Formats: sequence, C-alpha cells, structure tokens
Amino acid sequence: MKLILLGAPGAGKGTQAEILSRMCSIPTISTGNILRAAMKNGTPIGLKAKEYVESGKLVPDDVIIGIVRERLAEPDCEKGYILDGVPRTIPQAQALEDEGVEIDTALSIEISDEEIIRRMSGRRTCSSCSATFHVVSNPPKVQGICDVCGGELIIRKDDAPETVKARLEVYHAETEPLKDFYKSRGKLISVENQPTIEATTEVIMKALGL
Ligand code: AMP
Repeated sequence: MKLILLGAPGAGKGTQAEILSRMCSIPTISTGNILRAAMKNGTPIGLKAKEYVESGKLVPDDVIIGIVRERLAEPDCEKGYILDGVPRTIPQAQALEDEGVEIDTALSIEISDEEIIRRMSGRRTCSSCSATFHVVSNPPKVQGICDVCGGELIIRKDDAPETVKARLEVYHAETEPLKDFYKSRGKLISVENQPTIEATTEVIMKALGL
C-alpha cells in the first residue's frame, strides 16, 4: 500500500499514520519529523528549515523533494509506505509523479479550522521520539513524559496559536488544492474526523477496505 495522508495541520495525520503503519507493517514517512530531527541535530537541512518551520511556513519544495527521494530509496519502503505531511504543494506532488512514484490512494481527513485550533492548544510532542499526545483526548500515562520512550513532552514552537493560524492559511492556499489533483486521478478518498482517535481509525480502515 502506498498511501498519502492529507489534512490540515493537527487533523491527526501523524497519529493515524502511526496506527496504520503498525497494522500494515509499512513505514511512515513524515517530512515534519525528518525536519525536526534535522533541526535538533543541526544538520545543513535542519539549519535551512528552522526559520520556515518555526514561523509556520512551508520549507522550499526542492529541500522536501530531496528528503523524500532519499527516504523512498531505502529498502523498508519496498513493500509500501504512508506519506504523512508530504506532498504539501502541487509541485511536490508533481515531482513525485515525475519520479515514477505511484500512489494508490490519497486519503484526506476533513476537520474544521475551529476544531484544529481547539486541538492544537492541547497537543504535546515528545522532544526525543516525536510521538504526539493530547492533554485531554490522548494524555500520556505520566504527565509530561512520553509513553513510548520516556522522553520529555513539549509544546512544539509551531503549535503556538498565531503560528497555527498561519499554518492553516498555508494549508488552505497551498495544500488543499492537492485534493483536486488526486481527485482528477481517481485517487482521492475523504473521511470526516471523528470524536476519538479509535473512531477515526475505524472510518479510515473502512474507507481503505482494510
Ligand atoms: P508537520 O509536522 O507535518 O505539521 O510539519 C511541520 C512543519 O514542517 C511545517 O509547518 C512546515 O514548515 C514543514 N514541513 C513539513 N512537511 C513539509 C512539506 N512537505 N513541505 C514543506 N514544508 C514541510
């Protein structure tokens, strides 16, 4: 299965990608996580990405395309993968197509801007492994500590309210047009976000025929 997860920042792409990844035994490729790791390690890509990520802007397409090309060439991608947060612009989608990457489905998680803003204020991210939690809907077992690796949970800089608004604007302007891009190729499936993570996984599984 080669799946793209589309949806606004905070729609739950990362969470659902991890669940599907475990169920289907295929990797998740999250450009957001790759960029955050590069920023943490101070690599040249991380240094370049920092100002864009922290202000809620998109990192230039050529940087992203390079990252994805390299990651998709790794052996664990042979049986399929889930793309989380990429492509995010038409040129990124076009570049994937031009490189012969054949996607089975682009699955869009639909959610209102109001719900996103409410959600993002409670999001906590592991500073070590990038797992995400929510203070209300998905709290960690121990407050402030990651269930997965024991790392410290932090509020991502780009989850600050003003930055979330900027990211939503970018989403509507740059990323939402991808729905038409994949619709015209007969690959778009849309599902409504549900009140719980489990219920959303259920509608996704049904939509994918899993
Ligand atoms: P995410 O974790 O997917 O919400 O990504 C966090 C931030 O990383 C975004 O707000 C962008 O600044 C950057 N980013 C992640 N993926 C992409 C992409 N495909 N294209 C451009 N920028 C990206």
